[in-house]
Amino acid sequence: MSLWILDKGAIAPFVEGLMAEYRVVGPKAKGPQFAFGDITDPAQLRLDYNITILPPKKVLQPQYERLATFTLGEDPQVEPTIEAGPTVLFGVHTCDLHAIRLLDKAFSEEYPDAHYLKRREQTIIVGLECLEPCDEHSFCKSMGTLTTDEGYDLHLTDLGPAYAVDVATEKGKTLLSQYGTVREATDADIRRLNEVLGAKWPRFTYRLDFDAAELPALLSTAYDHPLWAELGERCLACGSCTNVCPTCYCFNVTDEVNMHLTAGERLRRWDSCQLDEFASVAGGENFREARKARQRHRFFRKGKYIYEKFGELGCVGCGRCIRACVANINIVDGFNAIHGTA
Ligand code: SF4
Ligand code: SF4
Repeated sequence: MSLWILDKGAIAPFVEGLMAEYRVVGPKAKGPQFAFGDITDPAQLRLDYNITILPPKKVLQPQYERLATFTLGEDPQVEPTIEAGPTVLFGVHTCDLHAIRLLDKAFSEEYPDAHYLKRREQTIIVGLECLEPCDEHSFCKSMGTLTTDEGYDLHLTDLGPAYAVDVATEKGKTLLSQYGTVREATDADIRRLNEVLGAKWPRFTYRLDFDAAELPALLSTAYDHPLWAELGERCLACGSCTNVCPTCYCFNVTDEVNMHLTAGERLRRWDSCQLDEFASVAGGENFREARKARQRHRFFRKGKYIYEKFGELGCVGCGRCIRACVANINIVDGFNAIHGTA
């Protein structure tokens, strides 16, 4: 819609203004790492972060969530609970913006999820353009998620003393005009922005040995690849890789009833296809019992199944699963190994 300039010194008053009206969630230091959390003081916001432990999806799809409360007895009642409020998700990197776009599809197509959609509707997203790779595990350039021109309301690009602010939606425009002290970008600012954006590309390297668009077809030939047995031997089925993934959205739902069996609540928690019991069904069967089958499933979800369902690959190249894996299982190495032996 338009481009504005926000001096770095104006970030703290901007965030302070937002905090009066919204829950503001952004990257904060957590020991030597970073995590998205509630900002209660603008000084907590760390826009210089590299990557967060968990992705910002936890704001839209919390790890634990109450879906409904119910009473039992002669006149049973069910009351849905949707816990959502006006929120600004501040400082979301481009790969995570792509991931949220995918979650939007997953939770709105086929079976619209009222809980996710209510939170999403109440959330304003301020993106942050990545100018450096998070670390050696980032492969966003291979996955085509190194930049984006959608999926945010406002988007910041660091120009040095100030941020260029791309205003993409009416919500973003209102937010900036109410709380931000900005000036319109000049031709010199636009030239500087183009320089900054142009300079970032060589800093990122391709880590896939092939074009990611080939992944669905490549995996179609790899169902019986020996890699799955090798990964199955190493995998400890801890579920960390899926828990940190910005595009994994599987969950489990349980009912918890009080001691008197008169009332209870329905809870939803994140689940992981890598856990031993994930595919357990009635009768004691487990249709994906072997770890090698579950590893294959994860790779196929990322490179084939999600693409077939939503038209985009299910991996945004953030590298979180690589950093989190205690068995050093590396999704880039896996895809490259399949490509190298196809
Ligand atoms: S599969 Fe791994 S690299 Fe890809 S989006 Fe998920 S966590 Fe990131
Ligand atoms: S993080 Fe590694 S060890 Fe744990 S489930 Fe995932 S692949 Fe297996």
